Amino acid sequence: MSNIHILGFPRVGAQRELKWALESYWAGQSSLSDLQRTGQQLRLGQWQRQLDAGLDLLTVGDFAYYDHLLNASYLFGHLPARARSAGEPLEQIFAAARGRSASACCGHAAEMTKWFDTNYHYLVPECAAADEFTLQPDLLLDEVRAARSLGKPLKVVVPGPLTYLWLGRSVDGANRLNLLSRLLPVYSELFALLKCEGVDWVQLDEPVLGLDLPADWRQAFEPAYHSLRKNGVQLLLTTYFSPLADNLTLAFSLPVDGVHLDLVSAPEELAPALDRLGPYKVLSLGVIDGRNIWRADLNALRERLVPVAERLGSRLWLGSSCSLLHVPYDVAAETQLPHDLQHWLAYAWQKVDELVLLGASLADAGVTSSPRWIAQAQALVSRRTSSAVHKSAVKQRAAAAASAQWQRKQSYAGRLALQQAALRLPQLPTTTIGSFPQTPEIRQLRRRFKQGELSLPAYEAGLEKEITHCIRVQEQIGLDVLVHGEAERNDMVEYFGEQLDGIASTANGWVQSYGSRCVKPPVIFGDIERPSAMTVRWAAFAQSQSERWVKGMLTGPVTILKWSFVRDDQPWSATAYQIAAVLRDEVQDLEAAGIRIIQVDEPALREALPLRRVEHARYLDWAVNSFRYAVTGVADETQIHTHMCYADFDDILPAIQAMDADVITLETARSAARLLHTLRNETYRNGIGPGVYDIHSPNVPSVEAMETLLTESLQVVPLANLWVNPDCGLKTRRWQEVIPALENMVTAAQRLRETLKTPA
Ligand code: GLN
Ligand code: ZN
Repeated sequence: MSNIHILGFPRVGAQRELKWALESYWAGQSSLSDLQRTGQQLRLGQWQRQLDAGLDLLTVGDFAYYDHLLNASYLFGHLPARARSAGEPLEQIFAAARGRSASACCGHAAEMTKWFDTNYHYLVPECAAADEFTLQPDLLLDEVRAARSLGKPLKVVVPGPLTYLWLGRSVDGANRLNLLSRLLPVYSELFALLKCEGVDWVQLDEPVLGLDLPADWRQAFEPAYHSLRKNGVQLLLTTYFSPLADNLTLAFSLPVDGVHLDLVSAPEELAPALDRLGPYKVLSLGVIDGRNIWRADLNALRERLVPVAERLGSRLWLGSSCSLLHVPYDVAAETQLPHDLQHWLAYAWQKVDELVLLGASLADAGVTSSPRWIAQAQALVSRRTSSAVHKSAVKQRAAAAASAQWQRKQSYAGRLALQQAALRLPQLPTTTIGSFPQTPEIRQLRRRFKQGELSLPAYEAGLEKEITHCIRVQEQIGLDVLVHGEAERNDMVEYFGEQLDGIASTANGWVQSYGSRCVKPPVIFGDIERPSAMTVRWAAFAQSQSERWVKGMLTGPVTILKWSFVRDDQPWSATAYQIAAVLRDEVQDLEAAGIRIIQVDEPALREALPLRRVEHARYLDWAVNSFRYAVTGVADETQIHTHMCYADFDDILPAIQAMDADVITLETARSAARLLHTLRNETYRNGIGPGVYDIHSPNVPSVEAMETLLTESLQVVPLANLWVNPDCGLKTRRWQEVIPALENMVTAAQRLRETLKTPA
């Protein structure tokens, strides 16, 4: 009998119970023990249901009140020093994550960044040369003991030592790898302790084995893992998210008791893995996709697994490809999905069921004639043949788009001259990134309309009032290129998803983003069509309210893909060109409606970069060309902008140049030096607006600070190309902060224009 297991489960709760409990505790409305009770109940309920569903091995240690990597920092006695005085263990964890504890401010919050190429954010471990580690097992042991009471074999999840250090950041420039020899004894101590607690397996997550690791990091694995063996407890080395490639041999040579492979990311690695497995190790195959929501093709999987099961017997384990953290809880909670979508989807609970069913079918072929097996197979056929999914005209248009290289008619220099003549903007034109504060009134307006309390005319009148207000404020501030403010958008991806055929919104598809924050990604299930224009009404209305130019605002193909659940029955590039096609139509409609400046945001372009370098060029090729397909259907007089939310784009600057937007606005306020350094080494030839106002902070930046940033930018950007703008959209800020900040920004631009007029 093989083990059926998962690498981890969501923790926020099917009704987001943990979110509400956390936020209530942080707001001082409930006690720490109330919060802990919620956590305990969630865990216990989930374990029980996993056992009821038929999992053989209980996975423990995947729970976190805030973040699993932060839990590991606590476990290793490695929280930032500023958080350690916050009292109770959970208080220390919150202090590190949020920069404040229940009673006091604890310096700044730890840095947060994306967990590999997912949309989950972890808290970055802070590493310094003098760091020491001490085992603090209390929180983990509480979980282990609670799980043990259920009387089943236990597997405890811990990030592997190399992954833990790799994901950290050195605060003093010291090499993080030098900390390994001090960290390993803590692991040994932990394993010995877990053995005494009756734990059978430890799942050591080493997803960094799927990255292009520097040689010294690769070489560190062997000695590290040799020092970890002989602690009694059995070790399962888990890898996920990308092919192991050149690390495959290494992974299988380590002295562990089993290796987990993500067969969803790297189906081709099964054969080489079997070659390297040896006579004793367990091979755990991640066959059910842990980060997407499509029902699995059980027949195809079974066919593939039968010979493996014959060969390995109980040494074959079946698992989710990665932790189920990245998918929502239960499709049964979705009641309003279009078409047959409900039957095509598998959330976390359905994935557990799929695993158990698949496992059962390996032991007993009779399972394949069970009603559940047959229903699953039928759902797949219905998805494969659905006319809501497959539209040949859409596929043909996207294929044609993909087979051409898209370009504006003239080069940037030629377009710039035409645009200057047509738009007549001043030097150092000022603008914003698109959204303005989303006030409670705006949210209420949208909510009431959605719930049917407000008629369409009343809703539209409400939005027009908001837009008019937003335009008036921008005129008073003296901005050159205005925006309508995005009051109609709840979210820059969801808004487009709601209007496009082939994309569905879910009612309950919540996934943790960080801490108590969850997102509800749209589901791209079919070929994409635009029943009608999506933004023209609001852009045109805004333009009718002002003599100044109003910039139209769209979200680009990569960002829509990256922040959605994407269909898995065709390559991402095919779906990207379909999105680009509807955007191209929208861009042309905006132009026809008199909008002369159009921005297509691509904040996710950098984060969608594949984990492995060999795949970068292919990705960037379709990412850039699909963007160009979206924006090249307009006259050269029409100015195309894009926006990205980061400054560390050194590695993709050539791709950004190749997008050939007339203007790009970027985040820089926190890392201006870095962007300017990049631009000094490698020129960017088109228009560029390094953000001078850090919108992530409530602070109002001074005129002088912004003028200085602009002056520095002029050393690396020609005057004719430099734009003046904030870092990002203003939707999370309040009007009281935004108005003075933008006034200062406009003053900074005006002062600099004056300075430039007077010869030095
Ligand atoms: N236009 C969007 C806004 O202003 C861009 C947001 C983003 O870059 N994430 O909100
Ligand atoms: Zn942004």
